[in-house]
Amino acid sequence: MRFSQLLLPTLKETPAEAEVVSHQLMLRAGFIRKLTSGIYTYLPLGLASIRKVERIVREEMNRAGAQELLMPMVQPADLWQESGRWEKYGPELLRFEDRHGRMSCLGPTHEEVITDLVRKTVHSYRQLPVNLYQIQTKFRDEIRPRFGLMRGREFIMKDGYSFDADEKGAEITYKKMYDAYHRIFERCGLKFRSVEADTGAIGGSFSHEFMVLAETGEDTLVMCKECAYAANMEKASCMKPEVSHDKPELLPLEKVETPGKRKVKAVTEFLDIKPQELVKTMVYMADDTKPVAVLVRGDREVQPVKLKNLIGAIEVELADDKQVFDSAGVPSGYLGPVGIKIPVVADREVTEMCNFAIGANEKNYHFVNANFGRDFEVDQVADLRMVTEGDRCPECGGSLLLTKGIEVGHIFKLGTSYSEALQATFLDNNGVEKTFVMGCFGIGVSRTVAAAIEQGHDKDGIIFPAPIAPFHVALLNLSTKDEKVTAAVEDLYEKLQKKGVEVLMDDRDERPGVKFKDADLIGVPYRVVVGKSYAKEGLVEIRSRIDGETVSATSDEAVAMVLEKVRAALEV
Ligand code: ATP
Ligand code: MG
Repeated sequence: MRFSQLLLPTLKETPAEAEVVSHQLMLRAGFIRKLTSGIYTYLPLGLASIRKVERIVREEMNRAGAQELLMPMVQPADLWQESGRWEKYGPELLRFEDRHGRMSCLGPTHEEVITDLVRKTVHSYRQLPVNLYQIQTKFRDEIRPRFGLMRGREFIMKDGYSFDADEKGAEITYKKMYDAYHRIFERCGLKFRSVEADTGAIGGSFSHEFMVLAETGEDTLVMCKECAYAANMEKASCMKPEVSHDKPELLPLEKVETPGKRKVKAVTEFLDIKPQELVKTMVYMADDTKPVAVLVRGDREVQPVKLKNLIGAIEVELADDKQVFDSAGVPSGYLGPVGIKIPVVADREVTEMCNFAIGANEKNYHFVNANFGRDFEVDQVADLRMVTEGDRCPECGGSLLLTKGIEVGHIFKLGTSYSEALQATFLDNNGVEKTFVMGCFGIGVSRTVAAAIEQGHDKDGIIFPAPIAPFHVALLNLSTKDEKVTAAVEDLYEKLQKKGVEVLMDDRDERPGVKFKDADLIGVPYRVVVGKSYAKEGLVEIRSRIDGETVSATSDEAVAMVLEKVRAALEV
């Protein structure tokens, strides 16, 4: 590609609307332009990177035995009513009516459509397993679209769905997809980790998220320093608290006045104890209507997903002061498990604590020296808290580490929930009707490009891994008026392209500084410069964007060197 012919609207200043570096750089480097909130046009360079990711995804999905198809974006409401998600999905689902008064939605995901297709086309175990995927624009009316391509309303996703005859088959398919995802993100040249993710009602570790490691990530990953254990915050657990055999003497429960002290900090300072010596009582509303009190140690946080799974709710939300008062009859800040009027669950750590402070269910009062079992009981005990740095790994006891990441992929063993709801069945080898066992596998294609930029950038711009950079090489002509230099550049351009190297030739009549800046900004991994030293000594300069290594060479040597570097970087 000739730079002079490319639509590449770079910006000198960082646009104020962009908070994160990938969004800033994608705007500055002319990769995207915003149409409206969460909706972007992919300009030629942005699209080039997206297509690279897509290509890797396609190759690896096909290699793993999946087949590509393309489903409609508009989906009829009745299918979603059949699965029960028309009601459940909430406002992220963009719904609309056509001229005949029929309701439809824009696909945020395609479980319904694919299950409908398979129930109509696959009837026998002989046709199984089937694994189908598409790469397509999704629409989700996100409450807070932000960070450019990271969380758009319209974005490109690879979504795949598998259908197996039984659990065992579904597990084999899951493993194949897990391996394929590893290859995909490795081939993209990204630093990533797969982590166990929450599976809600299904249970087991049959969901993994693939996280690109980046300090700016929205997600927190929990990893063990010693072993391979890795999970996201919703799923992560730690070793059970140790049961201490020499427990201190249990002191008598005592009610003390704590005037106006409602928060952990205020109460513990007032009582002159540590937050670890207090149990806080947090009220959550399950599915908007059912209050439940959760006990955790004063310095811990409740993990709402663990709570949701324990009590079998669809949603849980922290109650506000009014909801606390209306349900428990006590102002928030003074709640405690002794004589409480609503169901109580406790984090397992609480049951090992001794002589702790708790709310007394009376305004301006707390209890001290409370003890589980002696002073109160609870409905259920479970692991309900967020893991923190330094907690012990549930698998090996090693120290847990927290790092930031960006979710770029998610694989899930679905089981039969959709096939049952949509009555998608086949005949097994005994002629018995069975429901398909399903899996679903997503990759945020456009988000992956943004995540790569979050992971790779410096003050000058993007540093792409070669496999997903829009071009492999930026070929700069620094003396466009010099015929000899220009002829050499054109020759290099030809030769490199013939060998399959993707070259952006900067043939503009611009100052060298401008050309250097632009090449750095757009993140092209190799730069070949032809200028004064070519005119004098026949030498060109080759520089790596990744490590800044610079060498001089004749133009023939340069072709061989660049080719070798690019090939090595693209190797699987
Ligand atoms: P998130 O928790 O980030 O909202 P999700 O769990 O809703 O993600 P999935 O339904 O699993 O996401 O979708 C598959 C993949 O699509 C995600 O792993 C992510 O990479 C990508 N993705 C999801 N929502 C968006 C979005 N609004 N913009 C860009 N990519 C997205
Ligand atoms: Mg989401």
